[in-house]
Order: sequence, then structure tokens, then C-alpha cells
Amino acid sequence: MARLKHTTVIWIAATALVYYFLAHFGMALFALKPGNITLLWLPSGIALVMCLHWGYRSIPFIVLASFAANFSGMSAFSGPGPFLHTAVAAIADGMVGIIAMHAFKYFLPNGLTRSHDLVPFGLWVCIAPTSITSIILSINLAVGGYISWAETENFFLMLVLADSLGILLVYQVYQGWHDDGKMSRAELNWLAGTTLVMAVLLTLGFTTLPGAVFFIVPLLLVLSFNVNLFGVATISSVSLMSIIVATAHNAGPFEVTDPADSNFRLMAFVFSSALTILGIALQNRQLTSIERSSELWKDAAEHDPLTGLINRRAFLPRLQNEHQRALRTGNTYTFAMLDLDHFKSINDAYGHHCGDAVLCALAAVMVENCRSIDAVVRMGGEEFGILFPECHIDEALIALERIRKRFESSSTMADGKSIFVTVSIGVAAFAGTEEKDTEVVKRADRALYAAKAEGRNQIVVGL
Ligand code: GH3
Ligand code: MG
Ligand code: MG
Repeated sequence: MARLKHTTVIWIAATALVYYFLAHFGMALFALKPGNITLLWLPSGIALVMCLHWGYRSIPFIVLASFAANFSGMSAFSGPGPFLHTAVAAIADGMVGIIAMHAFKYFLPNGLTRSHDLVPFGLWVCIAPTSITSIILSINLAVGGYISWAETENFFLMLVLADSLGILLVYQVYQGWHDDGKMSRAELNWLAGTTLVMAVLLTLGFTTLPGAVFFIVPLLLVLSFNVNLFGVATISSVSLMSIIVATAHNAGPFEVTDPADSNFRLMAFVFSSALTILGIALQNRQLTSIERSSELWKDAAEHDPLTGLINRRAFLPRLQNEHQRALRTGNTYTFAMLDLDHFKSINDAYGHHCGDAVLCALAAVMVENCRSIDAVVRMGGEEFGILFPECHIDEALIALERIRKRFESSSTMADGKSIFVTVSIGVAAFAGTEEKDTEVVKRADRALYAAKAEGRNQIVVGL
């Protein structure tokens, strides 16, 4: 394991302290009385963030913080072995972070970035890991005599929801802060205005008009179009947490008091949910169309419209990648430059249109004679390149000779005319010492010049 730096230890310990306080006071804030079942368990989200940041190193800190927060509560019961049962619960709390972290890295390798990511995030990062540990936690409590076996099913469901919600709320704030913590003046104004309306709605909702609470959902949606993720995540987490706190203290729309106003609650809920869904659908449609057009633009920007081959711009990163890989692994790669001989005279004799058809024919012959992992590129004009990744020059020469022979031995049909054209090739293999990929390209280019100088229709190896 890598040696832990002092500052890292301090950061992990400080975050573990936040974990401890949220676990310790979370019960008082978010638990339903008298059952003491918590509706929201924020520490599970802190555990995920810790594991994403510091990996397995955070586990001892999480286990310790969970143990410290839970021991007094658990030892108050007369069940056997409170120490052991608190320890099992603490280990399960550590497991949530690690399992959620692995699920996150596996299912969301690019992070939580698009609307498509919401389902895998909810399912695999929130619900799946917390389901595993909630089974352990509820069985542990039943075995310890803290709850009866009949209660375990209900307890399990509440734990999954409370832990999943904890991950969802904490992670979105963390990602918002991590990705775009800074806000513009306009965003801050939006935030202030929304917070004010939100406060009014929540105050009404917790006092005289419980249904008012439901309107915070479309309000959050409007906010999401106007401020960055950090702002939305923070406001939505705070407002949702306040609803949970209110419910835990017998207030708000989820505490049924007067059946007469259930109609209003129902209508407010249906109306605001329909608005929210519509808003999300519209945003999703917008995102999809942006994604589609940006893919089209990217495709157009990276391909040559005449031959369909990739262009120099798309090719250079591939060459750099291959060069880096070769430097890392010690494997070689080969690069060839191809140029049609006396192409100007083909254009002059048959017209530009036929010249174009010859270029397409050369492109097709190159692709036919290469492996699917080789990159065939139109470098510009009538100059082409082929990158043979992880390939010795001898193997590349076999393919290149086939290409050269094909043009030497038969004419090319273009626009109904039979045109005879040959090709010159310069080729160079990565020698293992070049610092830069451009040096290999330069050697291939010089070899191409030599092939031209020595009479064309031949392959020259650049040393
Ligand atoms: P060599 O390479 O054997 O020395 O002679 P060359 O006649 O091929 O010489 P050079 O490479 O200088 O000429 C390239 C010609 O290719 C000039 C240009 O008109 C033509 N060309 C470049 N791009 C295109 C294209 O997209 N279509 C057509 N038809 N011709 C092109
Ligand atoms: Mg030429
Ligand atoms: Mg040329």
C-alpha cells in the first residue's frame, strides 16, 4: 500500500469526523419516533465519497466512526454482545462505501455526467450496495435482539431507502462542488430567489398547507435550468432533508392529519409531478439532440469526405497513443507514407473527376490489405498514411507490397476509363529510441522522397 501522507490522514480523519457527527445526530433529526427507524442515513454518502477519494484506506476510519457513533445507542439495549453487534454494523457501514465505489467505477467509468447515468447510479450505486449491507444490518439487529425477526423485513426496506437516499443526496452535492463549485452572479441571484420561495413553501407546508411542499419539485426543476449542479444539488438536498426532519417530527404533508385536505395534497402532488416529468423529458430531448448533432460534427471533422478515411486531425492522436504504448511496452509499430506517381498528369489527362476516383480506388485497396486495427489516413492531397500498431516492419512490408503490386499489375477503373497508375511508398518502424512520434513520420516521409528519386513504383525503408 502506498505510504500515507500526513495531510491525507488529516483529510480522511476530518471527513470521518463529519461521518461521526452525521451518524450521531442523524438519528435525532431523521428518525421516526417511537420506532427510531431512520428515514435518511447521510453517512452512507460520506462513505462513498471517502472511498472514491482514498479507496480502502478510508475503511478503518469509517468503521471507527460508525462504531463510535452507534456504540452508546446499541449498548443501551440489553441484548447479548453489544460490542460485537456494533462492530458488525460498523463493518457493514464500511462495506457500503467500498461496494458503492466499485459499482460506481464499473458502471459509471466517466462519472455521473448524463441523464442516462441516473438509472445505473440509482440502481447499482445506491440501491444494490445498500441492499447487501442492509441484509447484514437487519439480521445483525435481529440476532442481537434489538428488533424482532418479524420486524426485519420492514427494517430492511427502511434501511435500503435511508442509505440509498443518503448516497444520492451527499454524492450529488459532492460532485457539484467538485465539478463546478463556483457560481456566477446570475446563478447566485437565482439561488437566493429560489431559496426564499422555497422557505415560504416549506413554512406553509409544515404549518397550515401541507400540500405546498410538493411545489418545491418543479421549483427545483426551474432552478436546475438556471444554476450549476452544485447549486441545485445543495438546495434540493437541504429542502428534501427538511421535509424528512419535519415528517420525523410529525409535520408536513406526509403526516396525515386532516382527511379533508388529502384532496389538495393529491392534486398538488399530481400537478407538480406532471410538471417535473415534462420538464425532465424536455431537457432530455434537448440533450439527446445536442449529443446527436455533436457526434455528427465530430464525425465530419474527423473524416475525409471523398474517400471516407480518417483525416490527419483524427489520425494524430492515434499515432500519439500508439507511440506512448510502444514506449511503455517496448513493442514496436510501423508507419508508411504512400503517394501516387505522376498524379498531376492523371488529372491533366483524364480530368479532376477521374483523379478523384483513382484516390478512392487507392483508399479501398489500402483498407482491403490492412488489418482492422491499422489506421488508414488521408494525410492530404494524394498523400496517404498507414499506421500498423504493434507490427514489425517485415509484416507491414507484406501488406505494402501487395498494395504496390496491385497498382503495378493492373489498371484502375475510374469513371468508366481504365487508368494505369503506380504508387511509391516510404516506410519506417519505431526504433525504440525516438522521443517523439513525429520523428518516425519524418523518416517515412524521407523514405518516400527516396522512393520517388529512385524511380517511383517502389517501397523504401527509412532507417
Ligand atoms: P510525384 O508524386 O510522382 O512526384 O508526382 P505528382 O504529380 O503526384 O506530384 P505531386 O504530389 O506534387 O502532385 C499532387 C497532385 O495531386 C496535385 C494536385 O492537383 C493533385 N490532387 C491533390 N488533391 C487532389 C484531389 O482531391 N483530387 C484530385 N483529383 N487531385 C488532387
Ligand atoms: Mg504524387
Ligand atoms: Mg504528393
